[in-house]
Amino acid sequence: MQIDRGVSLKPYNTFGLPAVAQTLVRIASDADVRRVVDDPVLGLAPKFILGGGSNIILTRDMPQIVLKVEVRGMRVLEERADAWIVEAGAGENWHDFVEFTLAQGCPGLENLALIPGTVGAGPVQNIGAYGVELQDRFESLDAVDLLTGRSVVLGAEICAFGYRDSVFKHALAGRSLITRVRFRLPRPWQPVLGYLELQKKIAETGIASPGPRQIFDWVASIRRAKLPDPAAIGNAGSFFKNPLVSSQRATNLRRDHPTLAAWPASDETTKLSAAWLIEASGFKGLRQGDAGVSTQHALVLVNHGQATGAQIWALAQQVRAGVNEKFGVLLDPEPVVI
Ligand SMILES: Cc1cc2nc3c(=O)[nH]c(=O)nc-3n(C[C@H](O)[C@H](O)[C@H](O)COP(=O)(O)OP(=O)(O)OC[C@H]3O[C@@H](n4cnc5c(N)ncnc54)[C@H](O)[C@@H]3O)c2cc1C
Repeated sequence: MQIDRGVSLKPYNTFGLPAVAQTLVRIASDADVRRVVDDPVLGLAPKFILGGGSNIILTRDMPQIVLKVEVRGMRVLEERADAWIVEAGAGENWHDFVEFTLAQGCPGLENLALIPGTVGAGPVQNIGAYGVELQDRFESLDAVDLLTGRSVVLGAEICAFGYRDSVFKHALAGRSLITRVRFRLPRPWQPVLGYLELQKKIAETGIASPGPRQIFDWVASIRRAKLPDPAAIGNAGSFFKNPLVSSQRATNLRRDHPTLAAWPASDETTKLSAAWLIEASGFKGLRQGDAGVSTQHALVLVNHGQATGAQIWALAQQVRAGVNEKFGVLLDPEPVVI
């Protein structure tokens, strides 16, 4: 267990926001977590769990103990007749893990290629993209309770996955440190190709039955073309969730705004495109100092260089208020604001 003092978190968050952690502890194993819990000083102090910093907005310095999760290891645990069971340490890079599973001949995660961040943060917001969510491939996870130091194995039921949501954002927020995650990749492999942009790739290339590697490459190229790269311009991906409204409400909105992008979420609810709402409210490309709304994608807020978390958050509030005023729809932020 390595303990560092006065650590700049700028390189540890993809927005590139300035903030200093008074104490940063690098966690490489379950035993490291228990050492923190048992420590007379660290054990009692408030804590924040940090993965790859790709879904957080740091608005201030961090007096809490920052636990930076660096648990490593990736392996194929089991090859059953009906599924491959694969496992990764929470500190592994998510995209590297997707590549690893494909290289091992265990497809199923290809639609989730190129999502930034660590494996351990995946269950926290039930990461999803291009028709697949983590919960569709989830087996179980290991976590350590930050109050008692007890190790637990949690299944899908306890994780209570929802749209960009789980128990780790509610009852277990800041309480459970995830150390390893296992995935169940169904055999025989079935491609997930329902997403419009993947259908376009099929039409463009004439490849009607793409394999997992082909889907992985398509998803990566779609994402690179669509989303600003955090290495080039600081951001945390989608800043707002797509809002869920009653289908009646969506019908009324579409009567007044026929181009409003929306799709059914259940029999009674409809998901609206937050990007469409933001663009139609005139915010795409808006810049205030170094805080801005991306010119490339209206759902992405960006740091043009020296923005602070407070400035990004103020801009987010302005966007939220503007969309609410024009459409009567309140947007919920996706990243965790600290
Ligand atoms: C360009 C870009 C594109 C993105 N695209 C997508 C996308 O398509 N789909 C999607 O779902 N998300 C997307 N995201 C969001 C982000 O990649 C995911 O939320 C990712 O899972 C965050 O991982 P992280 O390791 O960076 O977590 P962090 O930002 O470090 O942490 C996020 C939250 O998880 C908690 N946490 C982190 N690790 C652990 C752990 N081991 N145990 C317990 N709690 C933990 C933190 O305390 C915090 O509350 C995108 C982000 C960017 C920058």
